[in-house]
Amino acid sequence: MTALMASIDPMGDYFSPLKIAAVFVLVLPWLWFVPWAQRDARRTLTPEQLVGGLLLGVGAIGLIVWLALPMFGVGLAIFATLTIGPSLGYLIYRDGKVPAQHRVLTMSHLTSMSARKDARKIKVTTRLKVYDSDGRLAVAPDEEEASIEVKLAYNGAQDLLYDLLSFRASEADLTPVGQEAKLRFLVDGAVTTRPSLDGADSDLIIQHIKLLAGLNADQRRKPQQGQISIDLVNQAIDLIVTTAGTTSGQRLQFRVVQESIQTQLDQLGMSEDVQEKITDANQVGGGLIIVSAPARNGLTSTLYSLLRCHDSFTMQLTTLEAKVAFEQDNVSQHAYGKDPAAMRKLLVSSLRHEPHVVMIDACKDPEAASVIVQAARERLILLGVSATDSFTALAKWAKVCGNATEAMASLKIVLAQVLVRKLCTECREPYRPDPSLLAKANLQAGDIKEFYRTPTKPRLDDKDKPLVDRDGNAIPCPACHGTGYYGRTGVFELLEITNELRELVAAGAALSKIKAACRKNQMLYLQEQALQKVIAGISSVQEVIRVTQPQSKAKAKAKKA
Ligand SMILES: [Zn+2]
Repeated sequence: MTALMASIDPMGDYFSPLKIAAVFVLVLPWLWFVPWAQRDARRTLTPEQLVGGLLLGVGAIGLIVWLALPMFGVGLAIFATLTIGPSLGYLIYRDGKVPAQHRVLTMSHLTSMSARKDARKIKVTTRLKVYDSDGRLAVAPDEEEASIEVKLAYNGAQDLLYDLLSFRASEADLTPVGQEAKLRFLVDGAVTTRPSLDGADSDLIIQHIKLLAGLNADQRRKPQQGQISIDLVNQAIDLIVTTAGTTSGQRLQFRVVQESIQTQLDQLGMSEDVQEKITDANQVGGGLIIVSAPARNGLTSTLYSLLRCHDSFTMQLTTLEAKVAFEQDNVSQHAYGKDPAAMRKLLVSSLRHEPHVVMIDACKDPEAASVIVQAARERLILLGVSATDSFTALAKWAKVCGNATEAMASLKIVLAQVLVRKLCTECREPYRPDPSLLAKANLQAGDIKEFYRTPTKPRLDDKDKPLVDRDGNAIPCPACHGTGYYGRTGVFELLEITNELRELVAAGAALSKIKAACRKNQMLYLQEQALQKVIAGISSVQEVIRVTQPQSKAKAKAKKA
């Protein structure tokens, strides 16, 4: 009894410096952990107040009990249990919710934490040759001397650019959201989400890339634009770099400067019939050809490939573009900026040199339209119109002309196009299409044995077992990285302007009548042309629906989502 009494510390002992130190050593990590878990809760979409409240509340009870109990050791054990227990519980819970690379109770995370402590342990990894805005090769940091931040920034930027190229992304976006940065690529015109980056790492990478792109690293808020380039198997790829500040931190965007503008007419994906007709119309002499497409659907590439059908050494070729998209040898190219009036002036002065072919990227100015109509009597004009199909393009052109008869006078053809993604030939999956769907599309079920789609089943190894990585996640197709698509091809709708059509439009006929006349003339609509790509196994029904759906519907759907 006396021994027990003796073991009870008198209250005064709490003021021993050792014990006060012990209290601090245990309380401080707890005070650090609670706000961290609260911020982290956003990642798992758990109410942050609940996480913070529980951890703080239970710990506070432990602390009160500890201070109130006369037995220091017992109190310590109670406090430790009430703080470490719920904290561990939260970590296990959140690890179950976040993607593998963000889990904290894993070997790889713990080793990376200890590696962070020792800068020398971080290996500098160069995967690509990157050149700065002045064309100088970016030098890798010194393995021994460089700070941990410099190495992390260099490696992170290398990984990001390597990832971007291996996905064949045309654009990339790194946006801070809370404690992390969301990474998205635009591949073949569709968004692909990549694993998020840690917010602090993302900031290091952005600062590193800003310096390479010739931007002011201290300017974190105002938008800036610069350029870097990458050497990939002796091919230079230029990237436009844009940075700007958001409420959560810095945002970085990349845009690959496309070389696809060099494509030839027969590589665009036209059916034989369409290619024959457009080639017939694309002859020097009087005439207007309208090429239309929704934004970012290859309009510029098609205009250039039509222009390139003409010999620039024996003929006078001219382009008028808001911004010159691609420098062509021996072609007089003019940029008119954003001012439609500037375009008209440039057009009038270019026509004085009597060019054989004039390519114009867009025309929104009625006066310029009337100059085009006049010029098209003697020379070939290739005109771009932003529209979803050939009928809309025709209506837009008639509207800017203000006079339907004039608009139709020299017009030979309206070509409309969209780009569809091509199925990855490594992993596309054959299936029997639903007969009712075929009937809807006016196709004979007997003629079509199979369609293809993106894979619905996991990839299998030699023993027919699903291919998985160490964490049990399915290993995606190495060719398309699991997107199911590889590259894009054009789908073309060709509206031939016949005399019958000219009369109908001049008389202000309804669209249904105009469409009926085109149908009689064997015209295939965009959706039907796209379906030909599905029948040929090049694309999927889902992809055709995605790109040929009217934009208003797609926008409404996106809003709902
Ligand atoms: Zn694939």
